[in-house]
Amino acid sequence: MHAPSTTTSPARRTDADPHRCRSRGGGTLIIGGGPAGLAVATVLRCHGEDDLEVLDPSGVWLDRWHPRFAAQDIRHLRSPAVHHPHPDPFALLAGSGDGALVRAGQANLPTTTAFARFITALVATLELETAVTPARASRLDLDPSGAVSVTGSDAIVRRPARVVLATNARRAVVPAALRAWTRHPCVAVGDAADVRRTPPGGEVLIVGGGISAGHLALGAIARGARVTLVSRRRLVIRRYDTHPTWLGPRKLRPFAAEPDPERRRRMIDQARGGGSMPHWMRRGLDQAAEDGALRLRQRRTVTAVEPRDSRLSVSLDDDTTAEVDTVWCATGGALDASTDPLCAALRQLAPTPIAGGLPELDPALRWPGTEVHLVGAAAGLLLGPTAGNLVGHRRAAQRIAATVRGEDPARADRLTTGAGACPATAAQRASSTTRGA
Ligand SMILES: Cc1cc2nc3c(=O)[nH]c(=O)nc-3n(C[C@H](O)[C@H](O)[C@H](O)COP(=O)(O)OP(=O)(O)OC[C@H]3O[C@@H](n4cnc5c(N)ncnc54)[C@H](O)[C@@H]3O)c2cc1C
Repeated sequence: MHAPSTTTSPARRTDADPHRCRSRGGGTLIIGGGPAGLAVATVLRCHGEDDLEVLDPSGVWLDRWHPRFAAQDIRHLRSPAVHHPHPDPFALLAGSGDGALVRAGQANLPTTTAFARFITALVATLELETAVTPARASRLDLDPSGAVSVTGSDAIVRRPARVVLATNARRAVVPAALRAWTRHPCVAVGDAADVRRTPPGGEVLIVGGGISAGHLALGAIARGARVTLVSRRRLVIRRYDTHPTWLGPRKLRPFAAEPDPERRRRMIDQARGGGSMPHWMRRGLDQAAEDGALRLRQRRTVTAVEPRDSRLSVSLDDDTTAEVDTVWCATGGALDASTDPLCAALRQLAPTPIAGGLPELDPALRWPGTEVHLVGAAAGLLLGPTAGNLVGHRRAAQRIAATVRGEDPARADRLTTGAGACPATAAQRASSTTRGA
């Protein structure tokens, strides 16, 4: 396997083309090096597609994933070990040693460390380390013929055969009373909330009722803080964020058959049902409440925030007030293709219905009429409520790889295991065995 076959034309600066122009005779440009982008790169490489480049400002794979897991002190994944970016579901299990898995009911969940190790090995085996260019995609343009070009923060204009948008461009959803406070030094929103910044012996107020809020609460309590957890609903207890029946035809067939995108959008919301947390987490919170380290305020919302010396005074809708050292907001985020700047040209030149922020895509997950594929949660109207999870990333990648091979993307959902799942590595192994013999 070799580096992406890009040819760079000589630096040329004209009024019409103010940037250096990198021409690509074909190939795939993936924007975003998170798990969704990695799944696409992996499946393409597994099928011998070497001509790919990834843009991510960090220049590395999974730059958001690893810090998130550290910030929330997450010891193991919520999803089973068969969910990961490799096309063979058993790839992680096959390589996992002692202590790599945590048993939860019938499922084995990979530890955070085992998952990170697996990703490192996967990237190395498929020689994907150098595929990520440290640049942000700042513009995506379509010309009248439908050809797509992407301008990077490195001032290079790329003209690939296809683009995969894997940016997970979520905006944090912040309760109204907190919106004016998001830049206050005592307030952290979304990924900025970090248990390693727990004020020693202090008071932390966490807003949210999902698994991130739970992780943050348990992490802060373990570091000696007293926590108030404010959830607008009763905590919902579930092993997974979406019921596993959504992985099979019983739910996916009627979902796919529903012609109205707005109805499909509602089906996604109902299936995910807002935030939820697994049983073990609820038990931990109950224990902390019994020990006096946690005050659980369910069906409550924050109504006002006021600074008080170096602390914050936070009022709730039951007229109670808590004086705290820090507020962490773990109320999730939302995608919106109707405002995402990288979708502006797509919206203008190739309009498609957008339901609750999600665009209607073709079976290859392309924005209809273009060679721009969308993966991750943005592919929800086609892949259903697990589109933003690891298992959804793999399904998206398989559809795109099938399209590149000229096969029917709608038939790409079948799982393949063993050597057939990743023919390129199987061939690599065979040739090294032959050489070694
Ligand atoms: C704490 C946490 C735990 C989770 N645990 C699980 C789990 O156990 N199992 C599961 O299935 N799912 C889990 N998820 C859900 C999901 O798998 C993750 O959110 C996953 O990271 C989503 O992958 P992604 O690639 O779509 O997005 P991200 O991981 O957000 O990656 C997007 C990447 O795109 C880059 N990017 C953004 N804009 C640009 C641009 N303009 N140009 C170039 N690059 C750009 C970003 O820098 C980033 O690296 C979890 C989510 C969270 C938040």
